[in-house]
Amino acid sequence: MDFEECLTTIWRNYPRWPSTFGRCRRVDCDGSHSARGSKVCAKCAEGDLADIVGEDLAEQYHESIRGVRQIESVMAEKAFQQRLSP
Ligand SMILES: [Zn+2]
Repeated sequence: MDFEECLTTIWRNYPRWPSTFGRCRRVDCDGSHSARGSKVCAKCAEGDLADIVGEDLAEQYHESIRGVRQIESVMAEKAFQQRLSP
């Protein structure tokens, strides 16, 4: 996949809302990550991205997206709790 597809595929695998995940469609996938909609997993997208920009940047990017989504999840929970309080 090309550069832009790698980025969107990584984002796509860390949705903000519940989604369906299954096996990655790549036959050579190591199976370490499930894939949203059983398309291509974030690890395979990271591998393709590494072929373009190098392993360090690809890994940093993947970990950063994962981290941002975790923070968004924590913040969303706090915002939800705040709406519930009087
Ligand atoms: Zn995969």
